Amino acid sequence: TVLRVCTDLVCTAAGASDLCTAVEERLGGGVHVERSPCLGLCERAPAALVTKAGDPVRTAVSAPATVEGAVLAASAPDSAPEEPPAETAVPQTGQDGLVLLSRVGAVDPSSLDDYRAHGGYTALRRAFALGPAGVAREVADSGPVGQGGAVFPTGRVWQAAASRPDHPPYLVCNAGESAPGAFRDRVLMEGDPFALVEAMTIAAYAIGAHRGFLCLRDEFPRATSRMRHAVEQARTRGLLGDDVLGRGYAFDIEIRRGAGAYVCGEETALFNSIEGHRGEPRCQPLSPAEQGLFGGPTAVHDVETLVGVLPALTLGAPAYTATATERSIRPQLFCVSGSVERPGVYELPSGATPAELLSAAGVRENLRAVLLGGATGGFVRPDELDVPFAFEGRAGSGVVMAFDDTVPLPRLLLRIAEFFRDESCGRCVPCRVGTVRQEEALRRIVERTGAAAADDIALLRDVGRAMRDASMCGLGQNAWNAVESAVDRLGVYG
Ligand code: SF4
Repeated sequence: TVLRVCTDLVCTAAGASDLCTAVEERLGGGVHVERSPCLGLCERAPAALVTKAGDPVRTAVSAPATVEGAVLAASAPDSAPEEPPAETAVPQTGQDGLVLLSRVGAVDPSSLDDYRAHGGYTALRRAFALGPAGVAREVADSGPVGQGGAVFPTGRVWQAAASRPDHPPYLVCNAGESAPGAFRDRVLMEGDPFALVEAMTIAAYAIGAHRGFLCLRDEFPRATSRMRHAVEQARTRGLLGDDVLGRGYAFDIEIRRGAGAYVCGEETALFNSIEGHRGEPRCQPLSPAEQGLFGGPTAVHDVETLVGVLPALTLGAPAYTATATERSIRPQLFCVSGSVERPGVYELPSGATPAELLSAAGVRENLRAVLLGGATGGFVRPDELDVPFAFEGRAGSGVVMAFDDTVPLPRLLLRIAEFFRDESCGRCVPCRVGTVRQEEALRRIVERTGAAAADDIALLRDVGRAMRDASMCGLGQNAWNAVESAVDRLGVYG
């Protein structure tokens, strides 16, 4: 039996380290306690996950975890209390005007009939009426863009992937969601799983793919079981398989389980993982839409991006683009956690500000700093929250973590550095060595109770520049962002 206690940013701020020590003292042999990177349960921090070997493997979530709750879950996973329903992670549940979250809490996630009763499969029928090129054009015109940080127009990816008839195209849904503070894909899969099946079918139809891969994080047991059930139901009812909806189109979804490797958020690392190789980025000049999985043209999207295609098709391009700002066209989901009264997934229209988001989430008065964009993003001060979320800017990943003045920021920065050191795949030197040097410097500072020597700051800047300029993928290139912003904007060591 393994008990993973999340010690990532928000859980650390919620006392996970003390929890972990107390649980270790209570549990005897037979249970291995691990300090884990983010488990994606940030709205219920601190979080713990139990995995017990056997056939079948049994899992239990304890969140918010207490010493008693974690010990009970580790001792008897089957008798651990049920998780609360997915909609408890959506404080806006039932609110008018929601687009992406409208069905979470309203639809029975285990019932295909209920999904249809809530408008499910309208978008796929419209897609079949438009034809593959028409679907890609409609989605390109309505402007949903990649929500995983890439910000590339979804319809253009489909047009590019469909333009290489010499090789079978593939569809990949990256539902691995391993960035600290990210849990929106989990909530969508738990609360509205058939939407993802329908959206994947539409994307595959647009590019002419007959195989789709849904790559899930194994630390999301409920999302995994709901997606499995939804795929099986869709197969049974003729919505996946050799003749989807009786239109003569063949498509099926293969579920792949991953282990939460952050680097597999990079598309080519994910392709390697699916193909059975080490999950490390490829060095290739072509985009995945030209050369991706098994060398074929590949459309790869996260869950939010795919689910966002459904309203674009059911509403049609003109209505959907009515929410457009000049450069960012979308409703966007934000994962809010940390020092707020109502953590969870929020849907905001384009042009909203972090101040509006945090006001909805009930930010505490003694706010010290906000991390926009997660571990690869940047810290801002409370007086900088009125600038609209520029989608192309700091909060592209939609992760927003608030920290009040009781949270030790030097300790959090060290946790960020530990995360990147752990998650670096080691393929290129600037990242492999730089993430270690960065962690060493930040640990020295923490051990000096937060005071930084000028040498350490100079070293951090040197190492940060080298990682940003010379690393091969986004992990190394962005590993210094949060620390740099804390030094420059928050004056955290000064
Ligand atoms: Fe691997 Fe880091 Fe290089 Fe990316 S930047 S390829 S994660 S070593």
